[in-house]
Amino acid sequence: MSSTTTTPTAHDAGSLARADRVVADLGLGADGIPVDDPATGERIATVPDLDVPATLDVLGTADRAGTAWARTSPRERADVLHAWYELLVAYGEDLAHLITREMGKPLAEARAEVAYGSDFVRWYAEEAVRPGGGYRDAPKGDARILTRRAPVGLAVLITPWNFPLAMATRKIAPAIAAGCAALVKPATATPLTTYLAVDLARRAGVPAELVQVVTTSSSSAFSEAVLRDERVRKVSFTGSTPVGRTLLGIAADRVLRTSMELGGNAPLIVFDDADLERAVDGAFAAKMRNGGQSCIAANRIYVQSGIARDFTDALTERLAGVAVGAGLAEGIGLGPLIDARAVEHMTALTADAVERGARLRTGGVAVDGPGHFFAPTLIEGVPADADVANEEIFGPVAAIQKFTSEQEAIERANATEFGLAGYVFTESLDRALDVADRLETGLVGINQGVPSNAAAPFGGVKQSGLGREGGAEGVEEYESIRFYNIARR
Ligand code: NAD
Repeated sequence: MSSTTTTPTAHDAGSLARADRVVADLGLGADGIPVDDPATGERIATVPDLDVPATLDVLGTADRAGTAWARTSPRERADVLHAWYELLVAYGEDLAHLITREMGKPLAEARAEVAYGSDFVRWYAEEAVRPGGGYRDAPKGDARILTRRAPVGLAVLITPWNFPLAMATRKIAPAIAAGCAALVKPATATPLTTYLAVDLARRAGVPAELVQVVTTSSSSAFSEAVLRDERVRKVSFTGSTPVGRTLLGIAADRVLRTSMELGGNAPLIVFDDADLERAVDGAFAAKMRNGGQSCIAANRIYVQSGIARDFTDALTERLAGVAVGAGLAEGIGLGPLIDARAVEHMTALTADAVERGARLRTGGVAVDGPGHFFAPTLIEGVPADADVANEEIFGPVAAIQKFTSEQEAIERANATEFGLAGYVFTESLDRALDVADRLETGLVGINQGVPSNAAAPFGGVKQSGLGREGGAEGVEEYESIRFYNIARR
């Protein structure tokens, strides 16, 4: 497959100037790890490259601040989180421009991420004043049992590049609410948003030492040193399953508390009785949000035979109409992928499916330009053994397979080691709930394609992970339950 000669739209000059002003205001030095714009290939900043001794120094600072923070009142924690939320909203445009500049997503999607990411801070400001705990009588009546929740201690938070703000806030905010200190390690591709978000947290009143950002070019040296350090009590990781497995190995040695938000291979099932427009809108959103670079992106689209033709034609038309370009320009629907490797991956997945008999309806090609662009793509008739049906795609490739019966759809949907998200489109409430119950996933979108919500417990089953982020459950990941057994006279 050859690449097209289409040139993607360039950044808008005014928005670019704003993004660069935000980067300059971060006051970063000239040495360290380079951060490049995926739409242009241009270097936009360098961030410090901390070695192990420097990282352990920073860890010690956070740990000491954590001792005092663990004793603060729930109201005090809530107040700083509320103030942080207000600042995230006030600086929302700066954050959105920064997200687009370093990560690539269109500005409209970056604004949506700011709303989504700030919402975790607001949610945990509200949760902070509702600490769990309880009282129960021992069955024999000889004791009173009092339960309370205590902060788990210093937490190491490792985030990926695809949602640089939301993946950070949904870990940092519950850690602060629970009374923990945090060492945050953002992905080296997109560290700038984390720097700004944590700077805003400090301006809002979070103690300067409590939340520390560490950027390093050596992830494995970082986790070997940090996760084995006795002062660390918790690791929360969002990223790929192979890296999660490595971290779990180290955590097992220390019997460390873990939360793992790992990879996905989401099935999206469209039944004959679905509302066609809703199904196409939902599938488009579930596939194209963040250019497909989302752990809950629709990876395998299963469509029942009676609706398959109309659904496939309509989704093809929607994808073919997407404007591709640099995210800081008006009207862009798809920005660049994160790097050149991602473009090669899309090209290889599409080629493999076509070689195995799938039919390419639109896209399937890299788009020329200095950045990492790939055309919105739809392939139908994808055989179950094609790579695209078994690997996490993480890009704008919609892969459609047909099915006949409900039983067959469920069996095929569950035939994967992953279990993060699933989607069901049908007008029957009974069927929607029955199928949702039988899908082996942590979350299910019913007649909609973007199920994430700060109030909901997000997370996977099977090899998609352990633990939950968001909702009341999210703060429990940073707490230990203790009980006092009080003798009765
Ligand atoms: P990745 O696993 O390569 O990296 C994630 C983060 O871990 C990055 O910050 C990276 O620098 C760091 N890292 C890598 N090796 C490490 C090590 N040995 N020790 C410590 N840190 C290490 O993943 P990625 O490519 O950045 O992100 C994409 C993946 O993340 C996909 O698989 C996606 O499904 C997953 N993801 C999952 C969720 C979820 O909530 N389940 C959300 C977003 C992304």
